[in-house]
Amino acid sequence: MSSEREYVCPDCGCLLIHSNPLTLESMVDVHNQLCVVKRQKSMASQLATRASAPPKPVTTGTQRPGVTSATPSITTTAATTTTTAGSANTTISLSGTGTNYSKAEGPIDPEFKSKRQVVGTFQGIKVWGPIDPPGQLGIWGTQVTVDFDICIADGACIEACPVNVYEWLDTPGHPGSEKKTFMAREKDCIFCMACENVCPPQCVKIFQKGT
Ligand code: SF4
Ligand code: SF4
Repeated sequence: MSSEREYVCPDCGCLLIHSNPLTLESMVDVHNQLCVVKRQKSMASQLATRASAPPKPVTTGTQRPGVTSATPSITTTAATTTTTAGSANTTISLSGTGTNYSKAEGPIDPEFKSKRQVVGTFQGIKVWGPIDPPGQLGIWGTQVTVDFDICIADGACIEACPVNVYEWLDTPGHPGSEKKTFMAREKDCIFCMACENVCPPQCVKIFQKGT
């Protein structure tokens, strides 16, 4: 008689089978974090909830149609640094006078590391220029990299990441979106590629260690 146990995802119908119940439980956890159908249902549910909620006060600055706000569990990092960019040891500022830029189109240049220079860091995360805050912010990260000038802040990468690498970073004055997904816990990345695969404008690029 077979000792195998199984789980059928109620959202996408995916069948998971394993003889060890603990292993199967782990498989179910990972599946639930990555299940696209489950995430789409969750997003639809959140949108429906927000649509029925009373309107919130309008904030200043540009707002892209369809861009949603962060969920309560996601940390928003305040951009409080003031030093201007200039070298790899410089702390990047998100404020400045560089507003004469329009939103860039994806995808991210996968060869950017051979074409750009590191112009500074923000909370230990590398920033690759050129930058001219707040209108041009460059590409951020080393293993988990995001082109901030392309990001539209829809939050798909945050929702897809199973290990909570990202958090929101306010970027007021940027023409693409006034917040970005900051890879604050880049070192926790397990290279599952989920964020790179779900990013609508393809502005995420994951580099395995040593690449
Ligand atoms: S590749 Fe890394 S950052 Fe992207 S979703 Fe997977 S664990 Fe998160
Ligand atoms: S999925 Fe792409 S566009 Fe959307 S928030 Fe993440 S990096 Fe930005």
